[in-house]
Amino acid sequence: MRYIDPHIHMVSRITDDYARMADAGCVAITEPAFWAGFDRSAEGFADYFRQLTETEPRRAAMYGIQHHCWLCINAKEAEDTGLSREVIGLIPQYLDRPNVLGVGEIGLNKNSRNELAIFEEQLALAKRHDALVLIHTPHLEDKLKGTRLIVDALKNSGLAPHRVLIDHVEEHTVRIALDGGYWCAMTLYPETKCTPQRAVDILETHGVDRICMNSAGDWGPSDPLSVPLARREMRRRGHVDQLIQRVTFENPLAFLSQSPRFRVEPASV
Ligand SMILES: [Zn+2]
Repeated sequence: MRYIDPHIHMVSRITDDYARMADAGCVAITEPAFWAGFDRSAEGFADYFRQLTETEPRRAAMYGIQHHCWLCINAKEAEDTGLSREVIGLIPQYLDRPNVLGVGEIGLNKNSRNELAIFEEQLALAKRHDALVLIHTPHLEDKLKGTRLIVDALKNSGLAPHRVLIDHVEEHTVRIALDGGYWCAMTLYPETKCTPQRAVDILETHGVDRICMNSAGDWGPSDPLSVPLARREMRRRGHVDQLIQRVTFENPLAFLSQSPRFRVEPASV
C-alpha cells in the first residue's frame, strides 16, 4: 500500500532511511526548511536551499521516492529579523525550481513579536507568488496561543485556507485548523508531540477530512517510519484499508496536488 510522508527532514537522515521508507510503501515526501540545530548565516541558507532542491531529490530518486520541498526562514531563526529578511530575499530565485511546492515550515516558536512579524512577511511572500503554505505550530504550552495567533495572521493574509496546511496539530488545536477551512497534519513522534495511538484517537474523534499524518523525522529522536506505524495501529483497531489509504495517501495527495510541481508515479499494479 502506497503512502506519502508530507513532512520529513531527509537532510538529517541516512540513505538507508530512504531504502526502508521505500520498502514500507513510501512513494513521495515533502521536506520543509527548518532549524538545523544551530543558527546559520544567509550564505548557509543559500547552500541549504541548494541541498533541498538539488541533492535530496537525487538521493530520493534512487529509491523511487519523489522528493519535494518548501523554503523559508524557520520560526526559531526568525527571531533575528535582519537575517530573516536576507533569507526572505533569497527565496524567490528558488521558488520556480522543479521540486519546490511553496513556503514552509513557517509559523511561531515562542510566539514572540519578531517571529510574528517575519511570519506575516512570509505569508505575504506566499501570496505574491501564489504558493502553497506549510505551517509549524509551537510546542507544548505555547501551542494553543500560537495556533490562535497563526490563524489570525492567516485570516489577514488573504491566502485561501484550502491552500494552507497547519502542522503539528494535537487534541486541543485540531478543531481550530479544521473549522477555519485549513488542512492539518499530526506529527508522529515516539514520545513528544503525537504518538501513533493518540493520532488514531484524534482521527476517530474528528474524522478524516483534511487530516494527514507525517513523521517529521529529523536530527532529534524521531522515527522516519512512523506513518507505517500509525497505519498498523489503524489496522489493529479494525479500520478498513480504504480509510487508512485516505489518510496516508489520498489526503496528502489532494492537498499537495494543488501545486503543479507535485508528482507521484502512477501505481504499477
Ligand atoms: Zn519540521
